[in-house]
Amino acid sequence: QAIKLIMDNDVARAKTLQVDLGDRSYPITIGQDLLTNQTFLQNRIKAQRIVIVTNTVVAPLYLESIASTLSSIGKQVETIVLPDGEEYKNWESLMTVFDALLSKKCDRKTMLLALGGGVIGDMTGFAASAYMRGIPFVQVPTTLLAQVDSSVGGKTGINHPMGKNMIGAFYQPQAVIADMNSLHSLPARELSAGLAEVIKHGAIIDAEFFTWIETNIEKLRAKDNESLSYAVLKSCEIKANVVRQDEREGGLRAILNFGHTFGHAIESGLGYGKWLHGEAVGCGMVLAADLSYRLGYIDYVSKARITRLVDAAGLPTVAPDLGEQTWLELMEVDKKNEDGKIKFILLKPLGKSIITEVPKELLLATLRSSTL
Ligand code: NAD
Ligand code: MG
Repeated sequence: QAIKLIMDNDVARAKTLQVDLGDRSYPITIGQDLLTNQTFLQNRIKAQRIVIVTNTVVAPLYLESIASTLSSIGKQVETIVLPDGEEYKNWESLMTVFDALLSKKCDRKTMLLALGGGVIGDMTGFAASAYMRGIPFVQVPTTLLAQVDSSVGGKTGINHPMGKNMIGAFYQPQAVIADMNSLHSLPARELSAGLAEVIKHGAIIDAEFFTWIETNIEKLRAKDNESLSYAVLKSCEIKANVVRQDEREGGLRAILNFGHTFGHAIESGLGYGKWLHGEAVGCGMVLAADLSYRLGYIDYVSKARITRLVDAAGLPTVAPDLGEQTWLELMEVDKKNEDGKIKFILLKPLGKSIITEVPKELLLATLRSSTL
């Protein structure tokens, strides 16, 4: 058993998953009031000097509380506040981080702490992987998407003008700290986007979890702490388990791209930023379920359950009409494909997934029936 669930004694109601990757193993803790808990932070963060990397939206919300707690337990704390947005997940921001670290004379023992969503997490992780050939870092994800997806798995990086996430490294954090309280300020649309990846984790691997999400979707959207904790815990467990078996995406890890082939086509067809990634993935899962149904892999009830759940999560279920030719072109350029053939992650049945090529006629039928 490589993913162990440990109860924390020092933090009421917090749960810790230990991700076992040999000497790069690390704990993921999910709980409440973690950012202001001295005992917990003392136990979890070993470095003496910490540089917090965050952005202009998250800083006014959570920077003061975590920074003052770290100071109160004797840490030397400094901060770097970057501009907010995917468009700043770039080389200039990375250089801003390196410039700050060098001018502060940070050495190899300095730890970076990523306080924010996936953009901050990806950039900070990449900066940590490269600064002085690698310094420790801790993830404090503050969006649901970052808690259930981007903070787990070790992928870090930035965008290049010619492609998203094209420059990066595999680099594991020393710890992930997911505080459910930080989700209270998250806009509903961002919460729904994170729920897409939660639903994905159930659909591809865990039918029982999928059913649990169906039962609790209203509570999740209402930000009920206990429901959110469970969803984050299960998602991290599922993703960490897949990643542990395939850390560098040789095979199995591809199932985490369920809904993403269609989703990426929607994102790039409409122009990045029009739909959130999670919205495109939600809709992409509806299309992938339709395709699975046409191939006889899932029954009609399963297909309907997926559409209903995506809808209940506040996500779109009908795709924009990009035009057949554009759809095909966008899916063929998806970087996960080999030899120009389009591979899809499909459900067979709900709760299990396979990777397969599909007949073009069925794909076209799905596109025709699922788009506006
Ligand atoms: P994000 O980091 O842009 O956050 C979304 C918005 O919410 C931003 O405006 C952010 O400042 C704001 N925000 C963050 N926390 C908040 C809070 N608690 N309250 C209010 N507002 C808050 O986007 P995201 O969805 O978290 O992450 C998307 C990024 O993650 C993309 O760049 C994507 O490529 C990356 N990603 C990486 C992986 C991976 O494996 N490394 C996986 C999935 C996604
Ligand atoms: Mg995704």
